[in-house]
Order: sequence, then C-alpha cells, then structure tokens
Amino acid sequence: MKEWVVTLEDEAATVELGRTVAIATDHSGLIIYLYGDLGAGKTTFSRGFLQALGHQGHVKSPTYTLVEPYMLSPNPVYHFDLYRLASAEELEFMGIRDYFEQDALCLVEWPSQGEGFLPNADLELHLSYENEGRKARFVALSPRGNTVLSRIQSA
Ligand code: ADP
Ligand code: MG
Repeated sequence: MKEWVVTLEDEAATVELGRTVAIATDHSGLIIYLYGDLGAGKTTFSRGFLQALGHQGHVKSPTYTLVEPYMLSPNPVYHFDLYRLASAEELEFMGIRDYFEQDALCLVEWPSQGEGFLPNADLELHLSYENEGRKARFVALSPRGNTVLSRIQSA
C-alpha cells in the first residue's frame, strides 16, 4: 500500500489534480473511489479528470441517476454518485458489473454506499477540508493503482 498527500489551495488545484490523474491512467482502465464530505471536491476533481480525457461541457454529480456514462475514446468513463442509493442491492438491478469492464475508467463518489457490490478500487482519493482549501490523500490498492500513483507523484 502506497500513500500520498497533497494540499489543494483552491478549486483550480482540484481540477488540475483531476487532469493529472486522468493523464496518469495512460489509456488503461482504473477504478477510483472518491471519499469526502459534501462539498469536499469529489465532483470538481471528476470534472478535471473528464475534461483531460476530452469531455467538453458540464459535469455534475449523477445524484439521481447514480451513474453518468461518458463515451470517450479510447476509454469509456463512468462517473458514479451513490449518495442516494437506497440499498446496495439496487446496484444489482442497474447491472453494476457491466460498467466495470476491462478498459473503463470508473470514478465512484460515496463508494461506502455500495459496499459488497462494487469491485475493489485500484486507487482511493480522500478529500477533506483544510483551512480555505482542501487536502487530498491517495491510497494505492493494486499494482495498477501503484503505477498511476507513481506517475502522479512525479508529474
Ligand atoms: P462534492 O462532489 O465532494 O460534494 P463538489 O466538487 O461538488 O463537492 O463541490 C466542491 C466545492 O468546493 C465547489 O464549490 C468548489 O468550487 C469548491 N472547491 C473545490 N476544490 C476546492 C479547493 N481545493 N479549495 C477550495 N474550494 C474548493
Ligand atoms: Mg459530488
């Protein structure tokens, strides 16, 4: 297990971190769990991530739809927000497994809501409030997560 902590002074830094992580995935699939209180910056991070991969336009948390697909090339990106998930079994009904295909990039807000029904993360990002800004703590949980985290650290 490998950890890394970085301070994010403002919103732009959170967006930039999302961009950096997206580029570090280097066109291979990855599952990232995003932890943090409401307003911690999970969706802001996701916006930077998606924009770096070619998405233009709005990104909002799919709070009611649970997942927003972005059919980007070469990797599809699935942005989950499980905040309003009533029960983890609901994930079975939405065909959760189909989203976690080999080359997909999955961003999961509120992953604890889907515990037991989600595949394991390669990388966790824990966002927390720190003064006026935020603190980001990464934990790598797989060989692939380790590789990506090494790239982020040296970016
Ligand atoms: P979440 O998805 O975790 O609920 P959002 O990304 O929707 O949070 O909202 C985060 C809020 O905090 C936004 O208003 C954004 O402008 C702001 N924000 C994001 N990153 C930072 C930062 N590093 N410092 C200060 N404010 C930030
Ligand atoms: Mg959000």
